Amino acid sequence: MAEKNIVFTDNATLPAIGQGTWYMGENSRARPKEVDAIRAGIDLGLTLIDTAEMYAEGGAEEVVGEALQGGLRDKVFLVSKVYPWNAAGKKAIAACEASLRRLKTDVLDLYLLHWRGNYSLAETVEVMETLMQQGKIRRWGVSNLDYSDMQELSRISGGKACATDQVLYHLGSRGIEFDLLPWCQQQAMPVMAYCPLAQAGRLREGLLESSVVKDLAHAHRASTAQILLAWVISHKGVMAIPKAASVAHVEENAAASKIVLSADDLARLDNAFPAPNRKTPLDVV
Ligand code: NDP
Repeated sequence: MAEKNIVFTDNATLPAIGQGTWYMGENSRARPKEVDAIRAGIDLGLTLIDTAEMYAEGGAEEVVGEALQGGLRDKVFLVSKVYPWNAAGKKAIAACEASLRRLKTDVLDLYLLHWRGNYSLAETVEVMETLMQQGKIRRWGVSNLDYSDMQELSRISGGKACATDQVLYHLGSRGIEFDLLPWCQQQAMPVMAYCPLAQAGRLREGLLESSVVKDLAHAHRASTAQILLAWVISHKGVMAIPKAASVAHVEENAAASKIVLSADDLARLDNAFPAPNRKTPLDVV
C-alpha cells in the first residue's frame, strides 16, 4: 500500500505525517536527543517540520536549525508561525527574519499566523505577500481559524492564497468535521492536524486506553498512538504533525503512515468517538 501524500494547491506534495516541535528547546540537556529525533524523522520521510517563534521563545527553532545542519535543509518542508501581535507590517518582517536566523536558513516553506489577534486579516495577508515577494517565505497560511474566520479570509483580496489551516484534531476532538474540514476539502486546501495524539492522551482522558483503540492496535500489530495517527490521516487532505522527542517515538510515528484502517475499523471508532452533529467552537490548546 502506497503511503498517503498531501498535495497543496500549488502542487507541493508531502507525506501525510510530519514532525511537531512544541516543548522542544526548553532544556539544553534534552537538546541532543531532540536533534537526533528530528534527524531520524527526516531520514524516515517525516519531512515536514512544524515550529513557531513561540515555542521556547525561539528555542525550538534553534533546535530545528541545528538538526538541519549538514545539508538537511533542502530535504524538508519548513513551517514556522508568527505571534498574532507580530503579524503585520515591520514587526512581521522582523519576526520572520528572526525565525530565519534561528533556523539558519534564508527561506521558510510555509509561514503561519499562529492565531487570530488584533491585526485585521487583511493586514496579515498584505505582509505575507510582502514576505513572499522578498523571497523569505514560499507560501503562507493560518492556524486556529474557525469556519467563519476562513470565510472572512477567503473574501479578502489575496486571502484565497492561504495554503492551510493548522488546527487541533484528534479522535477525541472532531469538531472540525462539522463545517471547517468539509469546506477545506472543497477548496482542496490541506488541513494540518495538531495534537494528533491528544498530547499522548493528556487532552482527552482515556483516549489511548479506550478498548476500541486498543483492539485495533492489537489487530494491526500497532501501538495505540499509531492507530490515532492512522485515523487522523485517513481523512482526505489531512496531515498530522505529532511531536516526538525520542527516536523510538519517531520510528513508530513514521510507520503509522503504512497502517490502513478498514471501513469496519473506522465505523468502530465512529461508534466510540462520534463525529459531531452540530457546530461546536473550534477546539484549541
Ligand atoms: P501531540 O499530540 O503530538 O503529542 C505529543 C506527545 O506525544 C509528546 O508527549 C510525545 O512524547 C508523545 N508521543 C509522540 N509520539 C508518540 C508515540 N509514538 N507513542 C506514544 N507517545 C508519543 O501534541 P503536540 O501538542 O506536541 O502537537 C503536535 C505539534 O503540533 C506540536 O509539537 C506543534 O508543532 C503543533 N501545535 C500547534 C499548535 C497551534 O496552535 N498551531 C498548538 C499545539 C501544537 P515525546 O516527546 O516524549 O516523544
